[in-house]
Amino acid sequence: MDRDRILLTPGPLTTTLRTKLAMLKDWGSWDADFNALTASVRHRLLDIVHGHETHVVVPLQGSGTFSVEAAVATVVPRDGHVLVLDNGAYCKRAARLTEMMGRRASVMAFGEEEPVSAAALDARLKAVGSITHVILIHCETGTGVENPLAEVATVCEKHGKGLIVDAMSSFGALPIDARSTRFDALIAASGKCLEGVPGMGFVFIRRAILDGCAGNSQSLAMDLHDQHVYMGKTGQWRFTPPTHVVAALSEAITQFVEEGGQPARLARYADNCRVLIDGMAAIGFKPFLRPEVQAPVIVTFHAPAHPAYDFKTFYEGAKARGFMLYPGKLTQVETFRVGCIGSLGRHEMRQAVEAVADTLREMGIPGGEPHVGA
Ligand SMILES: *Cc1c(COP(=O)(O)O)cnc(C)c1O
Repeated sequence: MDRDRILLTPGPLTTTLRTKLAMLKDWGSWDADFNALTASVRHRLLDIVHGHETHVVVPLQGSGTFSVEAAVATVVPRDGHVLVLDNGAYCKRAARLTEMMGRRASVMAFGEEEPVSAAALDARLKAVGSITHVILIHCETGTGVENPLAEVATVCEKHGKGLIVDAMSSFGALPIDARSTRFDALIAASGKCLEGVPGMGFVFIRRAILDGCAGNSQSLAMDLHDQHVYMGKTGQWRFTPPTHVVAALSEAITQFVEEGGQPARLARYADNCRVLIDGMAAIGFKPFLRPEVQAPVIVTFHAPAHPAYDFKTFYEGAKARGFMLYPGKLTQVETFRVGCIGSLGRHEMRQAVEAVADTLREMGIPGGEPHVGA
């Protein structure tokens, strides 16, 4: 089948033809035209968080994790102490990279099926004075749970602690307002809810802390302060920029604005999520999360209990019907995940459910009902 399949994954995701076509041009990295493109992307990213007064945005080459690592390296002094609020796989990754860069990291563990608790954070910050920074994953993509960004930011501000937010899978879809929510750094990437292609991340850094970040980074390539200073002087990226990715992101942001910005994107994803969960429920599948804590980004479903089920066959069946699913990321229970983000709507979600139903029939499985107790 010589056509693109629909990616029901949390990045890379399905992009529009316009976004793909924007990559059919070569750019000189030192050229004024490309510098103007970078400046325009940065400006419009700040628009999205209402951050012009309070923050700068610094782009960085690489996948999203590169930018998380860079944000921690740049914002946290080498003798800093980071507390990671942990309710899933991406939280654990943030703790690991913090530790690997030689910063002291403590983990505050929560259940994977619940949001982290701002009240519990408040108590911990009262008890442990050495903590300098808190890391929060806004939407924990490992399960799809939405964490309480505004509440956590309020607690951090009250205690005078820095807040680093991994908003990779929420930025552009869930509301984030820098005027009312204080964060030191907030990280997202090109190939998630803005519906660009993967290849670069970007970090919003609070102006008030920016100068103090000079010299924090133990890595040359990951130093966002240096990237920012150089970009300010020259308009250029320090090292070879992902030119085609920047061009695609620019085009994707134009479409984001045309669609109606963050509220419109949230409405479309919320509709996708509802259509998906309702359709899957009708054929027996049960989501891992309670609806109140589910972000409309990615849905974790329990695997069917039927003995004929195995993910590989299930995945191949859905793929043959044009839809790419995503494996689960939980250790305790068998699950799989279905993304609601990307350039798709309710019709594609209905077709995806139909593809799943058809695949189950082929596997001889009457329905998606999970094990009792799941
Ligand atoms: C996608 C994602 C990342 C970055 O993952 P990469 O594979 O490095 O792009 C980080 N955090 C969250 C919450 C994500 O969803």
